[in-house]
Amino acid sequence: ESESDIFVKRQPRSTQLIADARSVLAGGATSNWQIALPQAVWMSHGDGSHVWDVDGNEYVDMHGGYGAAIAGHNHPAIVEAVSDRVRRGTHFAQPTEDAIWVAQELARRFGLPQWRFANSGTEATMDAIHLMRSITGRDLVLKVEGCYHGHHDSVQVSVLPEEDEVGPADAPNNVPGNSGIPQAIMDLVVVVPFNDLGAVERALVSHEGRIAGMILEPIMMNAGIIPPDEGYLAGLKELLHAHDAYLTFDEVKTGFTTGPAGATGRYGVTPDLVCLAKALGGGIPVAAIGGTEELMSLIADGRYEQVGTFNGNPLAMAAARANLTSVLDEAGYAHLDALAARAKAGFEQHITAQGLPWRVVSVGAKGCVCFTGAPVRNFRDFLTIDDQWGQLHWLLQHNGGVFLPPWGKVEQWLLSVQHTEADVDRLIANFGKLAAVAA
Ligand code: PLP
Repeated sequence: ESESDIFVKRQPRSTQLIADARSVLAGGATSNWQIALPQAVWMSHGDGSHVWDVDGNEYVDMHGGYGAAIAGHNHPAIVEAVSDRVRRGTHFAQPTEDAIWVAQELARRFGLPQWRFANSGTEATMDAIHLMRSITGRDLVLKVEGCYHGHHDSVQVSVLPEEDEVGPADAPNNVPGNSGIPQAIMDLVVVVPFNDLGAVERALVSHEGRIAGMILEPIMMNAGIIPPDEGYLAGLKELLHAHDAYLTFDEVKTGFTTGPAGATGRYGVTPDLVCLAKALGGGIPVAAIGGTEELMSLIADGRYEQVGTFNGNPLAMAAARANLTSVLDEAGYAHLDALAARAKAGFEQHITAQGLPWRVVSVGAKGCVCFTGAPVRNFRDFLTIDDQWGQLHWLLQHNGGVFLPPWGKVEQWLLSVQHTEADVDRLIANFGKLAAVAA
């Protein structure tokens, strides 16, 4: 019996709900990325580090809602803050005091003085790109091949292009990341490889005076995990500034998960703009954009209208405040680091024992297996990794009671502050089954 068959057999209620849902929910789910082969898993509830599906199957949750659930589920501090806020009203479309507290804490952590809030990572990166275009009066934007920044037009270019679409490595094709993206907008994006300062310099020179700025994940995720080369991030800032262009870090995934101040703190390079979402809200939707006085003055004086009905809504602000205060504190990060080290060591033991060429990439609460022995410094390298092991890993973990994000080699696991050593040991044991198959 295949792992795929076992997966489906365990979930008859999900199968039924998918069929029922199709009549009213397009595709039978609430986001296309909730549908992964063999079928979408419908959830019932979560508690601590665990989640339960509608069939009563229990899992250690290392999917973490695509990297958001660093607090785990039902965290007492979040529950208390959110409950209190619900009783006092959740929406006025006017600011509440928690917003100042959250902005002050973000300013302290990320070293950027001015902040605004939004509701999703997509909105945050859209605002960042608008701000870079607005201040420079330039239309072109540099984007790294293989980076995902949400689903608005300007970043839906060369997100996860296929091998036969990408073109030459030193002059990548602009490949639409979705249907419905106008060619005219695609033409405003200049795609460059990750970890290649020369490519950025060439683009800045050949489009002199036309590039507003660059957006990238400072640690590339959505392609496993690819860390920046030493000096890459600082070099980008220097190059862009030398051409009067700006630097945006998309820390939607890396913010808080890779350390208290994300990759910005980890590498000590402060960009002009930083985008946060996912793990900021303790499980409630919220995003933030932080920036320099210069850039954020566009918002302050109304040259750029950063708006949204639910921006800085009281529920999200209360949750973010509790999250930053009681979850993402020193003790929280110490716990995450200890668990991450345990996971890495456990995986490495299996890899060594089975003589596999693979390695574990672990950064803070995020980790993944890189299913190759070759170096992976950019998206082209990533493309050469065989996806079969990532896919089988996902199924084996799932059937073994660990809920990981799907999409094989693309995604990472997320540890939460509520995970335990026993949870990590289950992850390691399931990986052992994969290692044995691959040996
Ligand atoms: N940026 C990065 C790096 C992401 O991983 C994501 C989502 O996966 C986004 C932006 C978009 O965030 P959202 O899904 O909240 O719109």
